[in-house]
Parts: sequence; structure tokens; C-alpha cells
Amino acid sequence: MDTEILRIESAGEHLTPDADELLQRAGAIIRQGGLVAFPTETVYGLGGDALNASSSEKIYAAKGRPSDNPLIIHICRIEDLRGIVKDVPEVAYKIAKAFWPGPLTMIMEKADIVPTQTTGGLNTVAVRFPSHKIAQKLIEYSGGFVAAPSANLSGKPSPTGAKYVIEDMRGRIDAIIDGGDVGIGLESTILDLTVTPPQILRPGYVTQQMLEELLGEVEIDRTTLREDTKEAPKAPGMKYRHYAPKADLLIVEGSLEAVVAYINRRSKTDRQQGKKVGIIATGETCDSYEADVIKDVGFRGDQETIARNLFRVLREFDDAGVDCIYSEGFDTDGLGQAIMNRLLKAAGHKRIQV
Ligand code: AMP
Ligand code: MG
Repeated sequence: MDTEILRIESAGEHLTPDADELLQRAGAIIRQGGLVAFPTETVYGLGGDALNASSSEKIYAAKGRPSDNPLIIHICRIEDLRGIVKDVPEVAYKIAKAFWPGPLTMIMEKADIVPTQTTGGLNTVAVRFPSHKIAQKLIEYSGGFVAAPSANLSGKPSPTGAKYVIEDMRGRIDAIIDGGDVGIGLESTILDLTVTPPQILRPGYVTQQMLEELLGEVEIDRTTLREDTKEAPKAPGMKYRHYAPKADLLIVEGSLEAVVAYINRRSKTDRQQGKKVGIIATGETCDSYEADVIKDVGFRGDQETIARNLFRVLREFDDAGVDCIYSEGFDTDGLGQAIMNRLLKAAGHKRIQV
């Protein structure tokens, strides 16, 4: 399949003059049952018509994604919730008012019109209203309901720039909208509203604390930060190997001084054995390491920068062909909950305390 690459410049609210025409073309592709990858504020999405079962099947095939792993439906107006959710609870409107458009996904009971192919066989549906202007326009021109998982091959880190979408999806889908690098860099927070109190199934930019300020008690699925062999994660997708670089990744936790010393020791022995070593370092420590590839993800206090850099850095280690990667650990306050959740999954939960 020939994949069209559509370049659209955006600076916040403003799109280039030819953007509308390109987005109408992309919308027509989705309405006719095709697939288009597009930028959102979180990561790039792989979009198809959410109400068309065969589009959802194509999404699973293009990603190589297991078909029991449900897709998120993207909308461009709060009132469209009613089109795909059985009885929209009052609390959903309260949350939408506070956080939409934005990086938050809500899970509710699905309406009959939503095919079970889109929901991975579940009778619930995940819905998000993204804030990215390209995404909003595309959803509008596609008919209003776009199923869109992250636009990576299953198992790989979610793409934060068009370069990685092209790498994974060229030849597998109809078009890719290149709208530059994304702002947030981690996927949306997923909040399950079918349970009381509401439960976070995947941490993201909208934090537990932000949700608690609005709603009172909000729980978090315990498997998001801990490996638990007895309990399966409640978001089906969270059980799969994910975000994984090709190399082995080990998270090293402890005082910064001890972490640096430990990683340097391991790096030295690995390199003596002829291995190529990569390190995920921070602004505070990046000059203290000796290794083949050292990536600075940002200063420890700047969680937004760390979140934005994490998936890109994981991909860059693949490109560099390192054999093993050591990463510093991060605090799990605020956005740190999402950062450590993704890092732990990328590491297959391999971590050591020094
Ligand atoms: P992705 O589209 O790659 O960001 O992944 C979507 C995530 O949302 C996966 O982890 C899914 O398991 C989760 N998800 C989507 N729909 C539901 C649902 N109805 N119930 C629970 N989790 C869901
Ligand atoms: Mg994904």
C-alpha cells in the first residue's frame, strides 16, 4: 500500500492555509474505511472510523495488536458522548468540563452502535476529546468518531514525532499527517467511571491529585506501578509488553550518588565484555557517566520535559543499537506516576535498589 504523507504546520490554534483541504482529504479516507495517522497533544494516533467494525479490524492488523486490546474513541464535541455511551453519568460531564479537550480518557458503558471490534469485545467504551487542532479537525471531517490507538507497531514505544510513525506504519496505512512533535509525549490518563470511586487504569498527564481535587476519592489500579503476578491490569492493553526498546533495560534506584556509581560500575564491566551501553540520565547527572550513548531526559524537577523525552529516547537507543540500557529511577509524585509506569513497562519491571 502507498502511504501518503501530508505535512501540516501548526502553531497552537493556527494551521497553514492548505491545512483544511488536506484534513478534508484525510477525513474522507477515514469515512471510506481507510486509516490515517495523526498528531494529538499526547502521542500520534492511528485513526479509523470507530463505528465501522472493519476499520477497527484494519487498525489491529496494521499495528499487529492483539484484538482483545480495546481502542480509544476520539470525539471533537462533548455532546457527542451521547452518541456512543449508553447513559452518560453526570460525573462524566463534570470531568469533561474540567479536563476536555485534553489528555484524559473516560471509560463508560457503550451504546449499541459501537461495534465490539472497537472495544476489544467489552461492553464498555473509552472516550477522549483531544485538544490538538489537527486532531479536532480531522475527527470532525471523519464523521465525529475516530478510533485511535497510538500509531506504533504493537510493543514499541508510542510515537512522539512523525518520523517514528513513518518508520512503523509506512506501507501499512493510507496516510500519515506530519504535524511536528507532540507536546506531552505520554498517552492519556485512563479513568474508569464504571466503578465507585472512579479508578485510574493508566496514569498520564492528568494526575491522580488533579482528579481528586475535582472528584474527592479516586483510586489507581495497583498494577500500574507494581508487578503483580496474581492480578491482571484492568485496562487490557496494560498487560502486554510495551514501550520496550530492543536492548535490556534496568532501572536503578537509590540516592543519586549511589545510582551513578552503580551504573558506572556496570557500564565498565559491560563495555569490557564488548557490549554497547546506553544510559538514561538527567540534567543533574549526565556529565557523571561513562558509556557509549548517554541521553539526558531533563532535570529531575522538570517532569514535563522528562515525560516528553522518554519515548523518543527509548527509540533512539534502538537506532543506536545499544545492547543494554541503565536508567535512573524517578519519584512517583504528580506526573512521576505516569513516567515510572511507562519506564517500568519498558524495563519489563526489572529494577534494582542500590
Ligand atoms: P492505546 O490506544 O495504545 O493508547 O491504548 C489504549 C488503552 O486503553 C489500552 O491500554 C486499552 O486497554 C485501554 N482501554 C480502551 N478501552 C478500554 C475499556 N473499555 N476498558 C478498559 N481499558 C480500555
Ligand atoms: Mg499504545
